[in-house]
Amino acid sequence: MQKIAILYEAGQAVLSTFDLDEVLQRILEIARDYFHLRNVAILLLDKEAQQLCVRSQIGWDRGHDRICLGIGEGLSGASVLKKQPVYAPDVSKDSRYVCAAQATRSELAIPLMVRDEVVGVLDCQSDRLNHFDDETIDLLTLFSTQASIALQNARLYSLERQRARQLEAINVIAQQSTAVMDLQDLLARVCSVIRQAFQVPHVSLFLRDEGDLVLRAHDGTLTPCVALDARFPVNQQPWSRILSTNGTAVENDISFTSGDFKLFVEAASRMSIPLISFGQTLGVLTLHSSKPHAFREDELQSLESVADICATSIQNANYLERVKQLAYLDGLTGIFNRRFFELRINEEIERARRYQFSMAVVMADIDQFKKLNDEFGHLLGDEVLRQVSSLFHQQLRKMDVVCRYGGEEFSVLLTQTNAQHAVGVAEKLRRVVEMWQFPGVPRTVTISAGVAAFPDHGVTRDELVRAADIALYAAKQAGRNRVCLTTATRKAAAGN
Ligand code: GH3
Ligand code: MG
Ligand code: MG
Repeated sequence: MQKIAILYEAGQAVLSTFDLDEVLQRILEIARDYFHLRNVAILLLDKEAQQLCVRSQIGWDRGHDRICLGIGEGLSGASVLKKQPVYAPDVSKDSRYVCAAQATRSELAIPLMVRDEVVGVLDCQSDRLNHFDDETIDLLTLFSTQASIALQNARLYSLERQRARQLEAINVIAQQSTAVMDLQDLLARVCSVIRQAFQVPHVSLFLRDEGDLVLRAHDGTLTPCVALDARFPVNQQPWSRILSTNGTAVENDISFTSGDFKLFVEAASRMSIPLISFGQTLGVLTLHSSKPHAFREDELQSLESVADICATSIQNANYLERVKQLAYLDGLTGIFNRRFFELRINEEIERARRYQFSMAVVMADIDQFKKLNDEFGHLLGDEVLRQVSSLFHQQLRKMDVVCRYGGEEFSVLLTQTNAQHAVGVAEKLRRVVEMWQFPGVPRTVTISAGVAAFPDHGVTRDELVRAADIALYAAKQAGRNRVCLTTATRKAAAGN
């Protein structure tokens, strides 16, 4: 009768919840109460670490409740090797006994088996000598099968939950690919979504840029050895193998990697999945763990699906970036257009205001361009526009912005530049054009330019452009081929 009752109750406990710790605790309580035990514990076998560690226990004091044993160590360890219950009726006489609780007089360790495999141990300790008779041992052995089932169920359930989380991740990434326009933003989000869904310590994304792979985003708890945007030649391992075979690579032990190849201080294993979109390898998704052998085959498929979606998202974001760029480029000259100028000047004014820099605007216009067209034809006129654009581009710093404002008029944004310096820059541009031999144009081509600076001549886009225009007009009036600083003051420009 007692047998049936205890097994029934254990069965109920197993079915009551999928939470592993809750089930194990319930099982231990039943064992303690029915068998009058002082200490009961369930230890789980960690195959990689070759250790048995207490997962759940009753009766031990704090600090003694996290014990780990080697396989073969103690009665629990012995039961793993034997795959049989191991009993010490008097622990003081058993050399295998490892003392974990002072009051223990007898101990019974029963292996928890799933099919033919040991997954853990039910360890029962009593403060009475020879507490367990044959019948109790049999009953506890039967009872322990319920603990095994609970373990197995909880594991399957957590696998299922993991799968569900992964599917959710795939979904989130797929949604982001349409919602997120900015590539950098997308890469950062993808890393964090994958990290959470797959519970990996560190996720990184490398994108191909000519002959290199560039670390574009990463997220996790490991300590990076390289900075964001670090570059790795694609002919280095492991990248060259991944990129040439387009196959996933699992490296189970990279803890000895050193020098240039080391990406994270604690990294011990790595999975690298190529990002392929329309047959083109865009980069590599890598997962790093601080444990060796951390990546399992059964996760590969979902990770590869995630990588596929990432690749498509990256392709989309690249494409959008390109489209955006095209919208800001002038078709004839390839430099930025007026739309871009208007966007950037606002940003530059804001930056100048915040950091109390000055910045300047130069409006430059080709002199007598109509005549040039009339004399040499429109096609040659186009070529002159292209060459002037290119001359400007070469003369300016990388951080300056040169745009075709319209027709034969150019606008230049000079960051961190005051009025006096801006006049100098404009003068340089004027001279370069004047000196340039335009093929097919047997005479000099000249420009006139007007200069205005923030905050002296205006503090808004309209004020600055108007002030520079006034100066350009003055330069034309004064005979062309010259640079004028605006006469507009901030007050006048503001209309007060
Ligand atoms: P000014 O010295 O006063 O600036 O005289 P201008 O002739 O340069 O000025 P105007 O505004 O009278 O004429 C500008 C000319 O630029 C008229 C137009 O045909 C020409 N133009 C505008 N866009 C293009 C273009 O894309 N290609 C060519 N070839 N010519 C263009
Ligand atoms: Mg002109
Ligand atoms: Mg003009």
